[in-house]
Amino acid sequence: MTTPPNSENLLTLLRSVFGFAGFRASQEAVCRAAVSGRDLLLVMPTGAGKSLCYQLPALARGGTALVISPLIALMEDQSAKLASLGLRVARIHSGMDRSSSRQACVDYLNGDLQFLFIAPERLRVPGFAEMLAKRPPALIAIDEAHCISQWGHDFRPDYRTLGEWLPLLRGASPNQERRTDAAPVLALTATATPTVQADIVAQLGMVSPAKFIHGFRRDNLAVEVVEVSVPRRAGIVCNLLKDPSLRPAIVYTQSRKQAESLAEELSRVTRAAAYHAGLDAETRERVQRAFQAGELEAVVATVAFGMGIDKSDIRTVIHAGLPSTLEGYYQEIGRAGRDAQASRTILMHSYADRKTHDFLMERDYPPADHLARVYSQLGEEPRAVEELRATSRLSEADFDKAFEKLQIHGGVRIDIAGNATAGGPGWKKTYDAQAQFRREQLEKVHRYVEGNECRMAALVRHFGDEEDAGHTCGRCDVCDPASALLRVFRRASVEERRQAQEVIEALRPVTYKTIRQLMGDLTWAERMGRDSFEVLLMAMQRAGLIASEEAVFEADGRVIPYRKLSLTETGFDTRITTPLPLLLDDGLVEEYAEPKRAAKQKARAKDAAQPKQKAAPIELTAEAETLATRLKEWRAAEAKQLRVPAFFVMPDRTLRAVAAARPANPRQLMEIDGIGPAKAEKFGEAILELCAKPG
Ligand code: ADP
Ligand code: MG
Ligand code: ZN
Repeated sequence: MTTPPNSENLLTLLRSVFGFAGFRASQEAVCRAAVSGRDLLLVMPTGAGKSLCYQLPALARGGTALVISPLIALMEDQSAKLASLGLRVARIHSGMDRSSSRQACVDYLNGDLQFLFIAPERLRVPGFAEMLAKRPPALIAIDEAHCISQWGHDFRPDYRTLGEWLPLLRGASPNQERRTDAAPVLALTATATPTVQADIVAQLGMVSPAKFIHGFRRDNLAVEVVEVSVPRRAGIVCNLLKDPSLRPAIVYTQSRKQAESLAEELSRVTRAAAYHAGLDAETRERVQRAFQAGELEAVVATVAFGMGIDKSDIRTVIHAGLPSTLEGYYQEIGRAGRDAQASRTILMHSYADRKTHDFLMERDYPPADHLARVYSQLGEEPRAVEELRATSRLSEADFDKAFEKLQIHGGVRIDIAGNATAGGPGWKKTYDAQAQFRREQLEKVHRYVEGNECRMAALVRHFGDEEDAGHTCGRCDVCDPASALLRVFRRASVEERRQAQEVIEALRPVTYKTIRQLMGDLTWAERMGRDSFEVLLMAMQRAGLIASEEAVFEADGRVIPYRKLSLTETGFDTRITTPLPLLLDDGLVEEYAEPKRAAKQKARAKDAAQPKQKAAPIELTAEAETLATRLKEWRAAEAKQLRVPAFFVMPDRTLRAVAAARPANPRQLMEIDGIGPAKAEKFGEAILELCAKPG
């Protein structure tokens, strides 16, 4: 063993070997735990610098580190980087010729290597693990450890059996007590919810691992979630991306077809192209490169896009439909603002997206009885897959899907000749569990978009960082509604404030009430209907007056969810006599609702029986020009404060129309084209004040 770790010699190593000036957040603590020989689970987002967390401890501990990695490309990349630092590295995977693999083994056994990378399936090669065990590694790192978990897409059966080999590789037989100097196991991943984390720890037989789950918070992202019906989305995306400050941008769609058509539409606004797995490799490569080089300003893509993308100045990531997992969504929005500059992410969803989710669920998880049907055809006698397919009475696609799932879950074994025999009957249990997990994932996405909690806090909590989840971000549509691009909030009216006070009084004497009970108490609530009443309750919740807690009760064997509403301390002390800044969700800001606006224009054009034409610029008198200048100054200040581009506050055309009309009261203001109730509510007072000034 080398000298015990202290921060000083770790830092020296960091600088002299890796050439980094200092540790990134959490790296040092992780490294120290690893050097001391503790097993550990590290969950940090992509790009956070996880590799260093096994590489530096490996060097500090001396000996050879064994690194297990699921992808040849990852292995090649990592080992090339280490070799370029002058370290002694070898790798063994199926993409290499025999003699280099043999040489790697010889070097390993001679103790000449600092790092040996292997693919997990290597361990299936008879004698390979035993060979490694002749000279136990000083540290075992398992990269992309989520592949171990049967929960999730990247599940790799070969990762699943890793746990069986670890005792041997750590230098202990399976039944032996773990030696104190045995190699620590480090599991690293960017994507593991608490369920997956527990699965990794159990599967690898990790011994009271230290857990580091950090870095999911992104301070420079303003996350927005807004309900928009499907037909309006394309127009809104185009309108948004007209603004150069929102580009470069990635727009995610749910299907290849949508990606193509939206890319075409968007091309009229900016340099845009589609990207999806249905395009040939050359086109994909070209699009990616052009985007990277700044020749394209927007890529409209399916989730196939983004893996290898290394572009730090992406300003906006838009989801033009509901993503299917929060992990995927987080990865996708995480591509915005790598340069730490303020960036935006917008997710548009509506009830219709659930249909898409149902479709995905059906596509990815065929009925278990399809699997059962294929399974029943299998026996000990090997049978050709084509023959099974022909006699299965399932369509070709259904058979292939069922067969693939059976294989993943061990219900079918394929021999070297490609023939199938029956596997274990346990497939049904894991298959059902995985399908259930998938359903829950979709449910979590639904809860996220409907939630009323700080978006960033909700995401951080999703990844299991409970501690950090206590902090709100101050930037998302929930924390800072005034800065939201699409969601619009308005101040409550006198009447609504009175109603809010009545809700407070109804809650004051009790610990909690359900929405139903409240509606029973308040006759006007019954009249306004549950949806509108919930809007008011949400506004009260945002203002910190009431709290809501999810609860369930059981009746007739069914579990029924409900919400408990209670007063917060602030709410308890509040008498809404003074105008309370209660913000109500009022839907979409008008200037982005292209289809609606186009329809209005069309109707107007028809009324006037005129051909559609571009509106002429608004002529201003000298006096009006002065006012326009003042309005522009105000707009710039407002935009800066709200952290939005100027035209979000008010487009030029509207601004000039205001200057020309010089409204004297709210009614006149509202008559101006481009000033809707939301704008008037938000800015009316300030605008009227400017207009009232002489000059
Ligand atoms: P992850 O595996 O978490 O996705 P990597 O380990 O590949 O991330 O690291 C991402 C990048 O960050 C790499 O280019 C790496 O060299 C760099 N990096 C890691 N740690 C530091 C550090 N302390 N200082 C500067 N750069 C770092
Ligand atoms: Mg990595
Ligand atoms: Zn927030």
